[in-house]
Amino acid sequence: MPRVAIAGAGPTGATLALMLAQRGIPVTLIEAARDFQRQFRGEGLMPSGLDALHQMGLDALLETVPHRPLSAWEFWLSDRRLFRADEPLGADRPCTLVSQPPLLAALVQAAQAQPGFEWMPGTAIKDLLWNDQRVTGVLLSDGRTVETDLVIGADGRASALRQRAGLTLETQPKSIDVLWFKLPAPTGYAADNRFCTVVKGGRIFSLFHGAEPDKLHLAWAVAPEEPTEQKDWGNTFAALVPPDLAEHFRRVGEAITAPMRLSVMVGRCDRWHHPGLLLLGDAAHPMSPVRAQGINLALRDAIVAANHLVPVLQRANDSTGEATTEATRKAIDRALERIQVEREPEIIQAQQLQAHEASRGEMLRRFSWLRQGLSTASPLVGPLVQQVWTQQQQPLRQGITSVRLEV
Ligand SMILES: Cc1cc2nc3c(=O)[nH]c(=O)nc-3n(C[C@H](O)[C@H](O)[C@H](O)COP(=O)(O)OP(=O)(O)OC[C@H]3O[C@@H](n4cnc5c(N)ncnc54)[C@H](O)[C@@H]3O)c2cc1C
Repeated sequence: MPRVAIAGAGPTGATLALMLAQRGIPVTLIEAARDFQRQFRGEGLMPSGLDALHQMGLDALLETVPHRPLSAWEFWLSDRRLFRADEPLGADRPCTLVSQPPLLAALVQAAQAQPGFEWMPGTAIKDLLWNDQRVTGVLLSDGRTVETDLVIGADGRASALRQRAGLTLETQPKSIDVLWFKLPAPTGYAADNRFCTVVKGGRIFSLFHGAEPDKLHLAWAVAPEEPTEQKDWGNTFAALVPPDLAEHFRRVGEAITAPMRLSVMVGRCDRWHHPGLLLLGDAAHPMSPVRAQGINLALRDAIVAANHLVPVLQRANDSTGEATTEATRKAIDRALERIQVEREPEIIQAQQLQAHEASRGEMLRRFSWLRQGLSTASPLVGPLVQQVWTQQQQPLRQGITSVRLEV
């Protein structure tokens, strides 16, 4: 009976493990962290990501996890609002902030209810096991080994499995880091939770109310080499945020703690697989945070992987407990190729659209004449820009290719 080991219980690994286990495939999920409260996990789920969870039958599970819809997207140039676009922008669900640690914990808990599921938290994968050019399992940090017929590297953008397999990642030049702040939210912000992007004074940043109560998130873009010495953040933000928020930032200034510095990596592997090994999610294609794509694409990767793997693995399971045959191994490897072929076009386009969004923001940040011109003309041009922008968001919100769970 073929066994699968999945490295990493982020959105990719946790959902794929659950889907496989629910379909009777023996699966071991190995996670380096002891719990899910690591420093930073994104929260933004687009309609496409929410739809992926819906297709997985996880609507009820999502209800048990702290989440909060966005009300609108607002763009501010200097002190003027260029436009506001109200959610759900033509979709059937609004973009929603979902707290990832409880979501991942709930996914693992659901998988634990399935026979054949094994959970190994606090255990990093150190290396791959090989037999005649085929990956046959993993070596753990504590020296134990797990032998399998398929290893799935869902271990994120710094993927150790990718490196061990010699699968190369082509990365785009690094353009920004993000300083991530969490601070008390202004009264009433949660009731009208707009994702505000502000371009002013040579800065670009976004703010929104996160999934957890009273947590305003502020993502502040900096150049990778830019030092982040301690600043008077409260007054710095007060001078830049939309006017109705300035007083709040002055008031909570002292409560603003040092931010997390998050580096942004964008790239794609030319080849996502090797006999016995498949990379998925950020391990195969690390995503930029622009327009919250990475979790959504990870969930869609997991669906496509399940579609291709479940029939092959179930067929082999049906052949009554015998050792995995060479024919099954070959069928698994062919499925890995098909998964990359199906997923790659969406990933390429999403990365291009993210880059396009980022370059528009960067132009506005760099060219004050453009910013000033648009800001002054905002009452006139704002509605038109809003229409064009809303139209252009659709692929990033709804997904680019059709992804349907078929197994
Ligand atoms: C600043 C920033 C903000 C973002 N915000 C959003 C957002 O709002 N919405 C969105 O959709 N995307 C967002 N993203 C992108 C998103 O975080 C990723 O694309 C997404 O998390 C990828 O999921 P994953 O499961 O592939 O990898 P990850 O979420 O990185 O999970 C990988 C898991 O593997 C584990 N692991 C690592 N190495 C090993 C090992 N050797 N052995 C075992 N386990 C291991 C890690 O502990 C981790 O739990 C953001 C990215 C950045 C940089």
